[in-house]
Amino acid sequence: MISVAIDGPSGAGKSTMAKRLAAELGYTYVDTGAMYRAIGLYAVRHGVDPKDQPGVEALLPEIHLDITMEEGTQHIFLNGEDVSAAIRAEEIGMAASGVAANPAVRAFLLETQRALARSRDVLMDGRDIGTVVLPDATVKIFLTASAGARADRRYRELKEKGAAVEYAGVLADIERRDEQDSTRAAAPLRQAPDAVRIDTSDLDFEQSFRLLKQTIQQRI
Ligand code: C5P
Repeated sequence: MISVAIDGPSGAGKSTMAKRLAAELGYTYVDTGAMYRAIGLYAVRHGVDPKDQPGVEALLPEIHLDITMEEGTQHIFLNGEDVSAAIRAEEIGMAASGVAANPAVRAFLLETQRALARSRDVLMDGRDIGTVVLPDATVKIFLTASAGARADRRYRELKEKGAAVEYAGVLADIERRDEQDSTRAAAPLRQAPDAVRIDTSDLDFEQSFRLLKQTIQQRI
């Protein structure tokens, strides 16, 4: 089986590029962030602070996640409900980052993620895929961009959707999530020693995509 691990901070374009590339290569795209988001959503809905580690751990036995692939698109079901759209809210991204610092949550998801990669060729994106989940991945990429470049893209995206947002708020959210993800004790965001680093700060989407595709194709 071939596995491609793509890690990096929020807003580096991982999921959009990974999805498209997986379709071109005929691999299954696995979005591990969606799993943390689903747990974050469950905590928020149950009035539990995502950073309350014992509180969130106590919820885990009630949570059943199912991942399905429909025409190459991942759907995630939380106790039978398709929450693929609900988990995309901004505040759920922050809740995901909160629950993701919890070692019990990470252990809960690890086997699901590994099992997906055992049964098919995957392109998996997340924060710790190359370092923890798939240490023997065929190819590891660390996809990054400066916080300013990521905030610019996210701000434009939200504006296009008609959201009433301020640039400073978007940048602050990105910086807060980076800080939270890279300073946590459990599987922090960091580049694996054998990962190829791709910095897209000065590249547009097509340029970034071509570079990512080339880098991977040369290694599989
Ligand atoms: O990638 P996405 O923004 O959907 O991820 C949401 C949050 O889930 C991240 O901020 C991060 O804290 C967490 N996450 C993680 N490990 C992964 C994927 C996501 O800790 N493999």
